[in-house]
Amino acid sequence: MILEEILKNLKNQGKNKAYTINNQSYSYEELYRFVCNIYQFILLNNKEKKPIMVYGNKEIYMKATFLACSFAGITYVPVDKSIPKERVDLIINQVNPYCIFGDYESKYCKNITKKQIYELMENETFNEINKIYLNANDIYYIIFTSGSTGTPKGVKVTYKNVDSCIKWLKEITKVDNDIILNQANFSFDLSVADLYLSIVSGSEQFILEDSMVFNFLNIFKQLKQSDATIAIMTPSFADLLLLDKTFGKEILPNLKTIVFCGEILLKATIQKLYLRFPNIKIINCYGPTECTFAVTSIEITNEILKQENIPIGKPKKDVEILILDKNKKQLSNNQIGEILIIGESVADGYLGEVQEKTFIEYNGKKAYLTGDLGYWSNGNLYYESRKDKQIKYKGYRIELLDIEKNLYDLNYFEKVKVIEKKSEKNKVIKLIAFVKLKTNINKTELEIKKELALKIPEYMRPSIKILEKFPINSNGKADIEKLRGLTDGRENY
Ligand code: AMP
Repeated sequence: MILEEILKNLKNQGKNKAYTINNQSYSYEELYRFVCNIYQFILLNNKEKKPIMVYGNKEIYMKATFLACSFAGITYVPVDKSIPKERVDLIINQVNPYCIFGDYESKYCKNITKKQIYELMENETFNEINKIYLNANDIYYIIFTSGSTGTPKGVKVTYKNVDSCIKWLKEITKVDNDIILNQANFSFDLSVADLYLSIVSGSEQFILEDSMVFNFLNIFKQLKQSDATIAIMTPSFADLLLLDKTFGKEILPNLKTIVFCGEILLKATIQKLYLRFPNIKIINCYGPTECTFAVTSIEITNEILKQENIPIGKPKKDVEILILDKNKKQLSNNQIGEILIIGESVADGYLGEVQEKTFIEYNGKKAYLTGDLGYWSNGNLYYESRKDKQIKYKGYRIELLDIEKNLYDLNYFEKVKVIEKKSEKNKVIKLIAFVKLKTNINKTELEIKKELALKIPEYMRPSIKILEKFPINSNGKADIEKLRGLTDGRENY
């Protein structure tokens, strides 16, 4: 399985670059030393084999700890430092980790600071890794995603899931001694692709710092330095890069493949990329965190580009995809229904009790009901839309109910409704929270924004509009149409 391949590379790739961040590269040899030291520490101290939370922002110790945990048979939980403290504490309470690696103080568990980790990692005399403790059905990592109850949902992904995903990605990208560009922070499962595809193939993972803040100057400087050959990103990120006319062959002369995943890939994005990078290979992947990065893929050829809609392709060979109607009966070609994913990629489920019953058994096999609507046509799968209130904004997955719940938790509002505003191309371009204050509460929009910032990450924060009178429909619910009218100027505040 992949951990054997990874261990082989760590031992044999010597001075080849494994990881580059902020002008600093680490060789395979160095990374191996870091991993060995952390591995021995974990085996010695975490006797109960409790999960370990890894907190930070793409630093080398995060990758080293992920690998050390995997070899030691310990589940890791990546948490990016952009996530506000209140939300991180909700995660800690669910996970009950052995400790937190990274600078995060919590009254709930002990913390190994960055300084302590670096001291530990650098130890020149260390014992090598001679045993891999992780078994195929063990939980490899838990990634938290937006939950409709206002509390993040932890997806438990097994070693078998990751192994199957990375082997498939190796095949479709034909990776070999490449430089793989990372966009996503490690809280998002998009990063699983570059974290592991790089190390399993003896390639370099080149980290883009500040990709969430998107400082053009800094991003373009890093892109140029990277000389990346493969990039893994969301379409939204590519759209941002394309805003700058210089994004093209001059900046990334050796870029040969871009792997997209996470949201609708628009024709316009592909066409612009082909103009800037004439010989590039573009791969569209589809899948939720609950099915380990992605489960379908397609290379976008000129033939495909001629079609009206861009397909999300065909499933990997150990996965089956069915389209179901409301009664979970299979639909035929060209009929739109819910996408059901069956097979090796389906994760172990959510951590703890979660309301949604989306992990199911279908014909005796483990399956995941995605909430995505789609259809089969001419041998390819197409994504149509969502059937619920989950959206993608700037490439990030958000439950609108998660934002609403966190607003209600402030205890200031009689009524809250969060609305997404879309472009003509059906892309979410703005989030707006309409709120009606309780009679005795006096708060400004700015004050509400500031308090919400303590609860949810930047990418989930809507603009706030206080309404004196909240539009209600005949069922007594928020009148979504009227609220939409307010967002596009058809109605007045
Ligand atoms: P995440 O768990 O953050 O990866 O988000 C998963 C969701 O993103 C899916 O359920 C889809 O709604 C959406 N998604 C992922 N890939 C694609 C794609 N290639 N095209 C359209 N939607 C996608």
